[in-house]
Amino acid sequence: MALKDFFIYLSENRILNSAAQRYGLRLGAQSVVAGVSIEETVKSIKELNKQNISCTVDNLGEFVYEKSEAIEAKNKILEVIQVIHDENLDAHISLKPSQLGLDIEYEFCKENLKEIVALAHQYNIFVNFDMEDYARLHSSFELLEELNKEFDNIGTVIQAYFFESEELIEKYKDFRLRIVKGAYKEPENVAYQTKSEIDKNYIKLIEYHLLNGKFTSIATHDHRVINHVKAFVKKHNIPNEKFEFQMLYGFRKEMQYDLAKEGFNFCTYLPFGKDWYGYFMRRLAERPQNLSLVTKQVFNK
Ligand code: FAD
Repeated sequence: MALKDFFIYLSENRILNSAAQRYGLRLGAQSVVAGVSIEETVKSIKELNKQNISCTVDNLGEFVYEKSEAIEAKNKILEVIQVIHDENLDAHISLKPSQLGLDIEYEFCKENLKEIVALAHQYNIFVNFDMEDYARLHSSFELLEELNKEFDNIGTVIQAYFFESEELIEKYKDFRLRIVKGAYKEPENVAYQTKSEIDKNYIKLIEYHLLNGKFTSIATHDHRVINHVKAFVKKHNIPNEKFEFQMLYGFRKEMQYDLAKEGFNFCTYLPFGKDWYGYFMRRLAERPQNLSLVTKQVFNK
Protein backbone atom coordinates (compact mmCIF):
# COMPACT_ATOMS: atom_id res chain seq x y z
CA MET A 1 0.00 0.00 0.00
CA ALA A 2 1.40 3.44 -0.93
CA LEU A 3 1.96 5.87 1.94
CA LYS A 4 -0.80 8.13 0.57
CA ASP A 5 -3.31 5.25 0.56
CA PHE A 6 -2.22 4.26 4.05
CA PHE A 7 -2.99 7.72 5.47
CA ILE A 8 -6.31 7.88 3.58
CA TYR A 9 -7.13 4.48 5.11
CA LEU A 10 -6.26 5.83 8.58
CA SER A 11 -8.36 8.96 7.96
CA GLU A 12 -11.38 6.75 7.27
CA ASN A 13 -10.97 4.67 10.41
CA ARG A 14 -13.84 5.48 12.72
CA ILE A 15 -12.41 3.69 15.76
CA LEU A 16 -9.12 5.59 15.60
CA ASN A 17 -11.09 8.78 15.03
CA SER A 18 -13.11 8.41 18.21
CA ALA A 19 -10.02 7.29 20.16
CA ALA A 20 -8.24 10.47 19.03
CA GLN A 21 -11.15 12.62 20.29
CA ARG A 22 -10.47 11.52 23.84
CA TYR A 23 -7.10 13.20 23.80
CA GLY A 24 -6.31 16.84 23.01
CA LEU A 25 -4.50 17.73 19.82
CA ARG A 26 -1.76 15.13 19.39
CA LEU A 27 0.77 13.81 16.86
CA GLY A 28 1.67 17.29 15.67
CA ALA A 29 -1.94 18.16 14.83
CA GLN A 30 -1.61 21.35 16.92
CA SER A 31 0.55 22.79 14.12
CA VAL A 32 -2.27 22.55 11.60
CA VAL A 33 -5.41 22.77 13.76
CA ALA A 34 -6.12 26.19 15.29
CA GLY A 35 -7.47 24.91 18.57
CA VAL A 36 -9.99 22.65 20.22
CA SER A 37 -12.21 25.38 21.68
CA ILE A 38 -13.85 28.43 20.07
CA GLU A 39 -11.84 30.69 22.44
CA GLU A 40 -8.52 29.28 21.17
CA THR A 41 -9.74 29.63 17.60
CA VAL A 42 -10.78 33.27 18.04
CA LYS A 43 -7.25 34.02 19.28
CA SER A 44 -5.80 32.48 16.10
CA ILE A 45 -8.23 34.42 13.89
CA LYS A 46 -7.27 37.70 15.58
CA GLU A 47 -3.56 36.97 15.05
CA LEU A 48 -4.14 36.37 11.34
CA ASN A 49 -6.47 39.35 10.96
CA LYS A 50 -3.66 41.54 12.34
CA GLN A 51 -1.59 40.41 9.34
CA ASN A 52 -4.40 41.39 6.94
CA ILE A 53 -5.38 37.76 6.50
CA SER A 54 -9.01 36.72 6.64
CA CYS A 55 -10.08 33.26 7.80
CA THR A 56 -12.53 30.59 6.78
CA VAL A 57 -13.40 28.64 9.90
CA ASP A 58 -14.13 24.92 9.81
CA ASN A 59 -15.58 23.09 12.81
CA LEU A 60 -13.94 19.72 12.21
CA GLY A 61 -16.20 16.72 12.11
CA GLU A 62 -16.47 13.43 10.28
CA PHE A 63 -18.34 10.14 10.61
CA VAL A 64 -21.63 11.74 11.59
CA TYR A 65 -24.30 9.03 11.59
CA GLU A 66 -26.49 10.18 14.50
CA LYS A 67 -28.88 13.13 14.29
CA SER A 68 -27.72 14.30 17.72
CA GLU A 69 -24.13 14.63 16.41
CA ALA A 70 -25.27 16.69 13.43
CA ILE A 71 -27.30 18.97 15.71
CA GLU A 72 -24.31 19.38 18.01
CA ALA A 73 -22.20 20.37 14.98
CA LYS A 74 -24.86 22.81 13.78
CA ASN A 75 -25.01 24.47 17.20
CA LYS A 76 -21.24 24.81 17.28
CA ILE A 77 -21.24 26.49 13.86
CA LEU A 78 -24.06 28.84 14.91
CA GLU A 79 -21.95 29.74 17.93
CA VAL A 80 -18.95 30.51 15.68
CA ILE A 81 -21.08 32.74 13.43
CA GLN A 82 -22.31 34.64 16.48
CA VAL A 83 -18.72 35.12 17.70
CA ILE A 84 -17.55 36.29 14.26
CA HIS A 85 -20.31 38.88 14.33
CA ASP A 86 -19.94 39.93 17.98
CA GLU A 87 -16.17 40.27 17.79
CA ASN A 88 -16.24 41.79 14.31
CA LEU A 89 -13.74 39.25 12.99
CA ASP A 90 -12.65 39.09 9.36
CA ALA A 91 -13.83 35.51 8.94
CA HIS A 92 -16.44 33.30 7.33
CA ILE A 93 -17.55 29.67 7.56
CA SER A 94 -16.53 26.50 5.78
CA LEU A 95 -18.63 23.43 6.47
CA LYS A 96 -19.08 19.88 5.26
CA PRO A 97 -22.64 18.76 4.45
CA SER A 98 -21.88 15.29 5.84
CA GLN A 99 -21.22 16.84 9.23
CA LEU A 100 -24.69 18.37 9.15
CA GLY A 101 -26.35 15.04 8.41
CA LEU A 102 -26.10 14.45 4.64
CA ASP A 103 -25.41 10.75 5.20
CA ILE A 104 -28.42 10.48 7.54
CA GLU A 105 -31.22 12.21 5.64
CA TYR A 106 -31.15 14.84 2.89
CA GLU A 107 -34.02 16.98 4.23
CA PHE A 108 -32.63 16.92 7.76
CA CYS A 109 -29.27 18.13 6.43
CA LYS A 110 -30.95 20.83 4.38
CA GLU A 111 -32.79 22.18 7.43
CA ASN A 112 -29.56 22.28 9.45
CA LEU A 113 -27.77 24.08 6.63
CA LYS A 114 -30.64 26.50 6.24
CA GLU A 115 -30.46 27.54 9.88
CA ILE A 116 -26.72 28.17 9.55
CA VAL A 117 -26.94 30.05 6.26
CA ALA A 118 -29.86 32.16 7.52
CA LEU A 119 -27.99 33.36 10.61
CA ALA A 120 -24.87 34.02 8.54
CA HIS A 121 -27.00 35.92 6.00
CA GLN A 122 -28.41 38.10 8.76
CA TYR A 123 -24.83 39.13 9.63
CA ASN A 124 -23.57 39.28 6.05
CA ILE A 125 -21.22 36.33 6.58
CA PHE A 126 -20.33 34.01 3.73
CA VAL A 127 -20.73 30.21 4.06
CA ASN A 128 -18.72 27.82 1.93
CA PHE A 129 -19.91 24.26 1.36
CA ASP A 130 -16.72 22.22 1.26
CA MET A 131 -16.71 19.37 -1.21
CA GLU A 132 -16.10 15.85 -0.02
CA ASP A 133 -15.84 12.63 -1.98
CA TYR A 134 -17.58 11.77 -5.26
CA ALA A 135 -20.41 9.90 -3.51
CA ARG A 136 -21.56 13.22 -1.99
CA LEU A 137 -20.77 15.50 -4.93
CA HIS A 138 -24.16 15.75 -6.59
CA SER A 139 -26.23 15.90 -3.43
CA SER A 140 -23.96 18.71 -2.17
CA PHE A 141 -24.53 20.73 -5.35
CA GLU A 142 -28.25 20.07 -5.05
CA LEU A 143 -28.22 21.48 -1.50
CA LEU A 144 -26.37 24.54 -2.74
CA GLU A 145 -28.91 25.12 -5.50
CA GLU A 146 -31.89 24.69 -3.21
CA LEU A 147 -30.54 27.07 -0.57
CA ASN A 148 -29.53 29.58 -3.22
CA LYS A 149 -33.22 30.10 -3.99
CA GLU A 150 -33.39 31.96 -0.66
CA PHE A 151 -29.83 33.00 0.15
CA ASP A 152 -26.94 34.48 -1.80
CA ASN A 153 -24.22 34.22 0.85
CA ILE A 154 -23.15 30.71 -0.18
CA GLY A 155 -20.59 29.14 -2.44
CA THR A 156 -18.71 25.92 -2.87
CA VAL A 157 -15.64 24.08 -4.15
CA ILE A 158 -14.63 22.71 -7.52
CA GLN A 159 -12.19 19.76 -7.39
CA ALA A 160 -9.95 19.65 -10.44
CA TYR A 161 -9.41 15.89 -10.37
CA PHE A 162 -13.01 15.18 -11.46
CA PHE A 163 -13.63 14.75 -15.20
CA GLU A 164 -16.86 16.70 -14.81
CA SER A 165 -15.25 19.68 -13.05
CA GLU A 166 -15.23 21.71 -16.27
CA GLU A 167 -18.94 21.20 -16.73
CA LEU A 168 -19.54 22.05 -13.06
CA ILE A 169 -17.54 25.27 -13.13
CA GLU A 170 -19.48 26.49 -16.15
CA LYS A 171 -22.77 25.64 -14.50
CA TYR A 172 -21.87 27.32 -11.20
CA LYS A 173 -19.85 30.24 -12.51
CA ASP A 174 -22.15 32.76 -10.84
CA PHE A 175 -21.16 31.48 -7.43
CA ARG A 176 -18.14 32.38 -5.40
CA LEU A 177 -16.01 29.26 -5.90
CA ARG A 178 -12.94 27.80 -4.23
CA ILE A 179 -10.90 25.82 -6.72
CA VAL A 180 -8.74 22.96 -5.43
CA LYS A 181 -6.94 19.94 -6.85
CA GLY A 182 -8.99 17.49 -4.72
CA ALA A 183 -8.13 15.66 -1.51
CA TYR A 184 -9.91 12.29 -1.62
CA LYS A 185 -9.03 9.02 -3.30
CA GLU A 186 -11.36 8.72 -6.29
CA PRO A 187 -11.77 5.89 -8.81
CA GLU A 188 -10.44 5.98 -12.39
CA ASN A 189 -13.91 6.19 -13.91
CA VAL A 190 -14.61 9.61 -12.37
CA ALA A 191 -11.27 11.29 -11.74
CA TYR A 192 -7.84 11.99 -13.21
CA GLN A 193 -5.22 9.95 -11.42
CA THR A 194 -1.93 11.56 -12.41
CA LYS A 195 -0.50 14.73 -10.94
CA SER A 196 0.22 16.21 -14.37
CA GLU A 197 -3.37 15.71 -15.58
CA ILE A 198 -4.78 17.18 -12.35
CA ASP A 199 -2.40 20.16 -12.40
CA LYS A 200 -3.25 20.91 -16.04
CA ASN A 201 -6.97 20.82 -15.40
CA TYR A 202 -6.50 22.87 -12.23
CA ILE A 203 -4.92 25.76 -14.15
CA LYS A 204 -7.62 25.55 -16.82
CA LEU A 205 -10.41 25.83 -14.25
CA ILE A 206 -8.76 28.70 -12.38
CA GLU A 207 -8.30 30.67 -15.60
CA TYR A 208 -11.89 30.02 -16.65
CA HIS A 209 -13.35 31.22 -13.36
CA LEU A 210 -11.04 34.23 -13.11
CA LEU A 211 -12.24 35.35 -16.53
CA ASN A 212 -15.91 34.38 -16.29
CA GLY A 213 -16.82 33.75 -12.68
CA LYS A 214 -18.08 35.75 -9.76
CA PHE A 215 -15.20 35.40 -7.29
CA THR A 216 -12.35 32.88 -7.25
CA SER A 217 -10.57 31.43 -4.24
CA ILE A 218 -7.38 29.79 -5.44
CA ALA A 219 -6.73 27.25 -2.70
CA THR A 220 -3.30 25.70 -3.05
CA HIS A 221 0.16 25.53 -1.50
CA ASP A 222 1.69 25.06 -4.94
CA HIS A 223 3.99 28.04 -5.61
CA ARG A 224 4.02 27.23 -9.34
CA VAL A 225 0.25 27.68 -9.53
CA ILE A 226 0.42 30.84 -7.42
CA ASN A 227 3.09 32.34 -9.68
CA HIS A 228 1.07 31.41 -12.74
CA VAL A 229 -2.02 33.12 -11.30
CA LYS A 230 -0.06 36.26 -10.42
CA ALA A 231 1.10 36.56 -14.04
CA PHE A 232 -2.34 35.67 -15.42
CA VAL A 233 -4.26 38.30 -13.42
CA LYS A 234 -1.72 40.93 -14.40
CA LYS A 235 -1.95 40.05 -18.07
CA HIS A 236 -5.77 40.09 -18.05
CA ASN A 237 -6.18 43.07 -15.71
CA ILE A 238 -8.22 41.06 -13.25
CA PRO A 239 -8.71 43.24 -10.17
CA ASN A 240 -7.88 42.06 -6.65
CA GLU A 241 -11.56 42.21 -5.64
CA LYS A 242 -12.27 39.28 -7.97
CA PHE A 243 -10.04 36.69 -6.31
CA GLU A 244 -8.07 35.59 -3.28
CA PHE A 245 -5.49 32.98 -2.41
CA GLN A 246 -6.25 30.42 0.27
CA MET A 247 -4.02 28.03 2.19
CA LEU A 248 -4.54 25.76 5.14
CA TYR A 249 -3.63 26.93 8.63
CA GLY A 250 -0.04 26.08 9.51
CA PHE A 251 1.14 25.45 5.93
CA ARG A 252 3.73 27.68 4.20
CA LYS A 253 3.16 30.40 6.80
CA GLU A 254 5.82 32.73 5.37
CA MET A 255 4.23 32.55 1.93
CA GLN A 256 0.81 33.30 3.44
CA TYR A 257 2.15 36.45 5.12
CA ASP A 258 4.11 37.46 2.01
CA LEU A 259 1.08 37.20 -0.31
CA ALA A 260 -0.95 39.34 2.10
CA LYS A 261 1.90 41.86 2.31
CA GLU A 262 2.08 42.00 -1.49
CA GLY A 263 -1.49 43.26 -1.38
CA PHE A 264 -3.34 40.13 -2.50
CA ASN A 265 -6.48 39.08 -0.69
CA PHE A 266 -5.49 36.12 1.43
CA CYS A 267 -7.67 33.77 3.42
CA THR A 268 -6.45 31.03 5.77
CA TYR A 269 -8.56 27.90 6.17
CA LEU A 270 -8.76 27.47 9.90
CA PRO A 271 -9.89 24.09 11.18
CA PHE A 272 -10.71 23.71 14.86
CA GLY A 273 -12.40 21.29 17.22
CA LYS A 274 -11.97 17.95 18.90
CA ASP A 275 -12.50 15.99 15.70
CA TRP A 276 -9.06 16.70 14.23
CA TYR A 277 -7.95 13.18 13.40
CA GLY A 278 -9.36 12.57 9.88
CA TYR A 279 -8.41 16.06 8.72
CA PHE A 280 -4.86 15.58 9.95
CA MET A 281 -4.47 12.15 8.33
CA ARG A 282 -5.62 13.55 4.95
CA ARG A 283 -2.95 16.24 5.19
CA LEU A 284 -0.36 13.52 5.79
CA ALA A 285 -1.70 11.61 2.79
CA GLU A 286 -1.30 14.66 0.54
CA ARG A 287 2.22 15.35 1.58
CA PRO A 288 4.08 12.71 3.55
CA GLN A 289 6.75 15.36 4.26
CA ASN A 290 4.16 16.70 6.70
CA LEU A 291 5.29 13.81 8.84
CA SER A 292 8.06 16.17 9.88
CA LEU A 293 5.35 18.04 11.79
CA VAL A 294 4.82 14.87 13.77
CA THR A 295 8.48 14.20 14.47
CA LYS A 296 9.12 17.82 15.45
CA GLN A 297 6.29 17.69 17.99
CA VAL A 298 7.38 14.34 19.37
CA PHE A 299 11.05 15.26 19.77
CA ASN A 300 10.57 18.87 20.88
CA LYS A 301 8.74 17.83 24.04
P1 FAD B 1 0.21 19.78 -4.05
O1 FAD B 1 -0.15 19.20 -5.37
O2 FAD B 1 0.00 18.94 -2.80
O3 FAD B 1 1.70 20.27 -4.07
C1 FAD B 1 2.29 20.83 -5.22
C2 FAD B 1 3.67 21.31 -4.90
O4 FAD B 1 3.61 22.45 -4.02
C3 FAD B 1 4.53 20.30 -4.14
O5 FAD B 1 5.13 19.39 -5.03
C4 FAD B 1 5.53 21.21 -3.45
O6 FAD B 1 6.54 21.62 -4.35
C5 FAD B 1 4.68 22.40 -3.09
N1 FAD B 1 4.10 22.30 -1.74
C6 FAD B 1 2.87 21.83 -1.42
N2 FAD B 1 2.68 21.89 -0.09
C7 FAD B 1 3.80 22.39 0.43
C8 FAD B 1 4.22 22.69 1.76
N3 FAD B 1 3.42 22.48 2.81
N4 FAD B 1 5.46 23.19 1.95
C9 FAD B 1 6.29 23.41 0.90
N5 FAD B 1 5.95 23.14 -0.39
C10 FAD B 1 4.73 22.65 -0.62
N6 FAD B 1 -9.96 19.40 -1.09
C11 FAD B 1 -11.19 18.90 -1.30
O7 FAD B 1 -11.33 17.82 -1.89
N7 FAD B 1 -12.31 19.59 -0.89
C12 FAD B 1 -12.22 20.82 -0.29
O8 FAD B 1 -13.25 21.40 0.05
C13 FAD B 1 -10.92 21.37 -0.07
N8 FAD B 1 -10.76 22.58 0.53
C14 FAD B 1 -9.49 23.11 0.61
C15 FAD B 1 -9.30 24.40 1.13
C16 FAD B 1 -8.05 24.98 1.15
C17 FAD B 1 -7.87 26.38 1.67
C18 FAD B 1 -6.90 24.26 0.65
C19 FAD B 1 -5.54 24.89 0.61
C20 FAD B 1 -7.07 22.98 0.18
C21 FAD B 1 -8.34 22.38 0.18
N9 FAD B 1 -8.51 21.08 -0.29
C22 FAD B 1 -9.78 20.60 -0.48
C23 FAD B 1 -7.34 20.20 -0.50
C24 FAD B 1 -6.85 20.23 -1.94
O9 FAD B 1 -7.78 19.57 -2.76
C25 FAD B 1 -5.48 19.54 -2.09
O10 FAD B 1 -5.61 18.21 -1.72
C26 FAD B 1 -4.39 20.15 -1.24
O11 FAD B 1 -4.45 21.54 -1.21
C27 FAD B 1 -3.00 19.73 -1.80
O12 FAD B 1 -2.79 20.24 -3.07
P2 FAD B 1 -1.96 21.59 -3.36
O13 FAD B 1 -2.66 22.30 -4.45
O14 FAD B 1 -1.82 22.37 -2.10
O15 FAD B 1 -0.54 21.19 -3.86
